[in-house]
Amino acid sequence: MIVHAGHPALRKPAALVAPDELGGSKLLALVDEMIAAMRAAPGVGLAAPQLGISLRVLVMEDTADRMAHLTDEERKERARTDVPLTAIVNPVLEASSPERGTFFEGCLSVPGYSALVPRWREVVVSGLTPQGAPMRLRASGWPARILQHELDHLDGALYIDRMIARSFATVEEARKRWSGRSFEEIAAELGLPD
Ligand code: ZN
Repeated sequence: MIVHAGHPALRKPAALVAPDELGGSKLLALVDEMIAAMRAAPGVGLAAPQLGISLRVLVMEDTADRMAHLTDEERKERARTDVPLTAIVNPVLEASSPERGTFFEGCLSVPGYSALVPRWREVVVSGLTPQGAPMRLRASGWPARILQHELDHLDGALYIDRMIARSFATVEEARKRWSGRSFEEIAAELGLPD
């Protein structure tokens, strides 16, 4: 079950998965449970602390049917592209681009709300597969945003720590007011600085 803001697992740094756990049935069962919870929600990413388990594991996936409610323009603005199912154990942010992009973000552990959050446009993340093989991932746009959001969970941070507070809105209000509009228009209406 996905835990919500207020649960202590969301606010403490998660522990590294021990080498002897890699490829083990316990870790593989956890990854399966995370994938099932992410898909059932549905969400595009999940970190183990969101199941109340304080371990450094994340999963992500985004598919065309989950973007069906977006217009082509919205997809482009968010640089939202398909993200194949990926699970990373003990992920580390290795590098990020100097530029940041700002867009709406939500969290399964803060259900019903969204806000604008600045994120690096491009990141390089390294870690291990659940089987223990080294992996390295370069991502930009939407997948880079998901990665940064899930990495934050592993350090006990939530998007509300990084959001532009004035943009905090319920999902219904955000959809009603901001859907199909550019970031510039939204920023102007919210009175955000350039
Ligand atoms: Zn989240």
